[in-house]
Amino acid sequence: MQDALMFDPRETAAPDSLPPRQPASTLEGLDARGKREFNKLHKRLRRQVGNAIIDYGMIHEGDRVMVCLSGGKDSYTLLEILRNLQRNAPVAFSLVAVNLDQKQPGFPEHVLPEYLEGTGVEYHILERDTYSVVKEKTPEGKTTCALCSRLRRGSLYGFAEEIGATKVALGHHREDILETLFLNMFFGGSLKAMPPKLLSDDGRNMVIRPLAYCREADIAEFARLMDFPIIPCNLCGSQPNLQRQVVKEMLADWEKTHPGRLESMFKAVTKVAPSQLADRELFDFAGLEEKQTRMQADRIDILNQ
Ligand code: SF4
Repeated sequence: MQDALMFDPRETAAPDSLPPRQPASTLEGLDARGKREFNKLHKRLRRQVGNAIIDYGMIHEGDRVMVCLSGGKDSYTLLEILRNLQRNAPVAFSLVAVNLDQKQPGFPEHVLPEYLEGTGVEYHILERDTYSVVKEKTPEGKTTCALCSRLRRGSLYGFAEEIGATKVALGHHREDILETLFLNMFFGGSLKAMPPKLLSDDGRNMVIRPLAYCREADIAEFARLMDFPIIPCNLCGSQPNLQRQVVKEMLADWEKTHPGRLESMFKAVTKVAPSQLADRELFDFAGLEEKQTRMQADRIDILNQ
């Protein structure tokens, strides 16, 4: 059996200095107060990632964690925080960064290898021309994201197996999870979001989302201060996912007018009461009479004692 011991963020060293990595001009330009704020932010992200890893048993002794790196703020942050935790974690695990080059026109191929060389992390650039497939298969005027994501997932999951990765780490954060929850409710007629840990349908890959507890705004600020070389996500020329954008704005608006609401909604995702919903698969409503009879019989027994 695998060692069940996982990170304890209390055992990790306090980040009293800036994280060791290649020089970053924004960080270097911070005054003392800015550095304190940055350290607080870094510590918060690390604590939240550590807690998510513990709560969901995401990483175990000997795991080889493949971090999917898109070149966006979330995946850079994920890799950076995992590298940091790796140095102090009470269990040994390895990291391998993988970027899928989907052959979108204008993709700056040099950016990620240059960045990754500087980190010393093992990495692979996987080249798959999913862009052409998506363009060819998607009818004019239809959005390309569904097919593109499916192809990307297939390529990355297959590659994870090839390189012996035991976990596939994705950079989804708290807002991604909540947006998905609302999108599924609004358009999918189901109450489901994005789980922090997931076994793929064919049982081949274990997917983890260590940023599940992290706020998007914190990640954006961290990425800005770290000067990550962000690759724009609109290279495919696809329309942005309008429905997701609308939900994103709705959540941002709520957070502004009712601070703490997103926090509460996220807690709700972790605290589900099947008997208070209406899913007959999840809760045995038909068996309530039987349960009532049992409970009444138990009460009578107690009264007769
Ligand atoms: S925005 Fe472009 S690259 Fe991203 S999922 Fe959609 S089609 Fe794919």
